[in-house]
Amino acid sequence: SFHKSKGQHILKNPLLVDSIVQKSGIKSTDVILEIGPGTGNLTKKLLEVGKRVIAVEIDARMVLELQRRFQGTPLSSRLQVIQGDVLKTELPYFDICVANIPYQISSPLTFKLLKHQPAFRCAIIMFQREFAMRLVAQPGDKLYCRLTVNTQLLSRVSHLLKVGRNNFRPPPKVDSSVVRIEPRKPPFEVNQKEWDGFLRICFNRKNKTLGSIFRQKSVINLLEKNYKTLQALNLAPAQQGALEDTNDVMDFSDEDIEMNDDGVDDGMEVEDGNAEGEVSEFKKKVLSVLMKAGFEGERSSKLKLQQFLDLLSEFNKDGIHFS
Ligand code: SAM
Repeated sequence: SFHKSKGQHILKNPLLVDSIVQKSGIKSTDVILEIGPGTGNLTKKLLEVGKRVIAVEIDARMVLELQRRFQGTPLSSRLQVIQGDVLKTELPYFDICVANIPYQISSPLTFKLLKHQPAFRCAIIMFQREFAMRLVAQPGDKLYCRLTVNTQLLSRVSHLLKVGRNNFRPPPKVDSSVVRIEPRKPPFEVNQKEWDGFLRICFNRKNKTLGSIFRQKSVINLLEKNYKTLQALNLAPAQQGALEDTNDVMDFSDEDIEMNDDGVDDGMEVEDGNAEGEVSEFKKKVLSVLMKAGFEGERSSKLKLQQFLDLLSEFNKDGIHFS
């Protein structure tokens, strides 16, 4: 009677549940946020080690089952259940988050948590294996992508446990991994919209050189438009409070386009410049920033987070903005 659409795969291996709780490093003073408690196998252990558990569950039947399970036990006074979609729920204060979630909400949930203030200590989350490997990827790894860099901007991620599909009932189609996500304190100071626009361009074709990406007519046109708008306003975009300002959850739905990037140059790009091959002043400006900073021949697939931050700051110094 489980709902496939809600990703209801119940953890049935008690040793694995123990191991997740143990690796979470929960203290007896911790307020724990659990997402998708289901029938409460994990919830029970969390209640035993933490101070309180606040569990967000979308399915009314599961909420009932959960409440019945702990009714009349000493644990029930420390459990609060919120019925609702975690993506639409305003999250309460918590020290630590533990979640075995439906995989379709992986990306929006991760960024919702990372935007939450005050920042929690860490989140222990079960993800589809490939998603987990993207989060922990390093420059040069096959799965290193925009999602990786965006997550690593806001947090440190480490791989905790490999979990085979047969630990669940019913078993999902893919293997899973448990990762630990620790928000960076303090966070990097970037304007989130600008950063997002910048990374979208850099990872547009992650195996192409930045030199070739920033020669594309569409890219130059976009940057020139931003440049002129800002010049007209004679004003730099607000740098402050960028992370708090934006209310939309980052969307990585187009990530799979990037996945298919095999690094083969299709030769279809239209370069900027008129029929005589003249290069606009603005394009020269963009390319000179890239060259001066030494990034012309670099590829996003191999760049470290700090290098992305450096390059964006070099562009900004010359008045080139991405939002
Ligand atoms: N934590 C339990 C366990 O490990 O046995 C159940 C995990 S099951 C993979 C995912 C749970 O998340 C289900 O109980 C499902 O109803 C719930 N769920 C699905 N989408 C949700 C959402 N958007 N917000 C909150 N809970 C959700």
